[in-house]
Amino acid sequence: MTFVSKVKSFVLQEPQNKNESPKVVVVLRMSCLLFMLYLLSAGVGFVITKHMYLAMFSVLFLILYAYALYCSYQDKMAQAYLLLNINTLLWVIMFYVIFGPNTGVHHFIFALIMVDLLLERRHPVVMIVALYLVRIGLYAGRMTCLPIAVEGMLGKLEIYMYVLSVVLECTTVLFTGIYFTKDAFKMESRLQDYNNELRHVASTDPLTKIWNRFRMLEHVEKCLKKYQRGELQFLSLAIGDIDFFKRVNDTYGHECGDEVLRSLAHLFDEEMRGIGAVARWGGEEFLFLFENMNGDDAWTALSLIQTKLGRLDIPYEGQLHRVTMTFGLTEYDFHLSLDDNIKLADDKLYKGKESGRNRVIY
Ligand code: GH3
Ligand code: MG
Ligand code: MG
Repeated sequence: MTFVSKVKSFVLQEPQNKNESPKVVVVLRMSCLLFMLYLLSAGVGFVITKHMYLAMFSVLFLILYAYALYCSYQDKMAQAYLLLNINTLLWVIMFYVIFGPNTGVHHFIFALIMVDLLLERRHPVVMIVALYLVRIGLYAGRMTCLPIAVEGMLGKLEIYMYVLSVVLECTTVLFTGIYFTKDAFKMESRLQDYNNELRHVASTDPLTKIWNRFRMLEHVEKCLKKYQRGELQFLSLAIGDIDFFKRVNDTYGHECGDEVLRSLAHLFDEEMRGIGAVARWGGEEFLFLFENMNGDDAWTALSLIQTKLGRLDIPYEGQLHRVTMTFGLTEYDFHLSLDDNIKLADDKLYKGKESGRNRVIY
């Protein structure tokens, strides 16, 4: 196992409390580690330049971070979070008071704000305003007092600490931002897929896999809008009902009836492609919508479908079955409501049934 993969598995370890977001825990641990890296590197600088008391303070802050990390593995996230904030503020203020602004240490407050923005879910505004106030307080303090750094502390050590802080602050902000947004995009696209799936399920008839009533109504509304925009001139609709379907069920069983419905739906779906749409309207009823076709054109198209249906052999348990259907067809009257237009088609269907079935009434 390489060092990087060791760190990765250490940071990514699931939180003990299942209610805790794994993402939040990772950001907290990663910030601790990055701030520790700063203190460790700065500590080395302090030892080299023989500022032992600063090195000792760095060790103390490192221990506090280590404890915050430990808390994040012990279902003590609140303590870990608090310690991360207090500890960071302590050493930022301390180094700022000693070195002044030239080491750039105060910018760690902005890195901390970024981290808090994603970590603190209860009082994000309170925490962030508090950090802003500390930042302003540091500035105000600088206006009134000079840094207490003694001779020999500035110079190379200052540049070294400045470079360190720029690198680690940027890394913290970048890591936090990228880690969260990467996941957000993934989540968003997953939600989108899920949404599409839901939409598909909500608009598909489970038995025949063609559109259901809900989806067809949505589609008719779209066509009516197209008509209003002048993109569509005609619309025709027909309702078809299987003749004596009850007999199919009673004689060959419900399963056989289902198979008939599936086969018919498949045929209609193929035939309506490019000229309109079809949906399962109810039990053994289908609604056909002919787009940009007047009643005469729709009648020709529907009669062809009826002919094909008459020749359709539906195999079920070794036997071939045939059914006929009666259709009521009407050219859409845009002065009437959708319900009234459907009723017109329905009335014609009823007439077709009355007058002997297996026909298109227009
Ligand atoms: P008509 O020619 O007057 O339409 O006669 P019909 O027997 O088709 O009419 P009726 O309304 O009496 O019967 C419709 C039947 O359709 C009754 C119902 O059990 C059946 N049916 C409705 N939905 C389904 C389904 O999903 N599967 C099966 N197998 N049968 C269904
Ligand atoms: Mg019926
Ligand atoms: Mg029927």
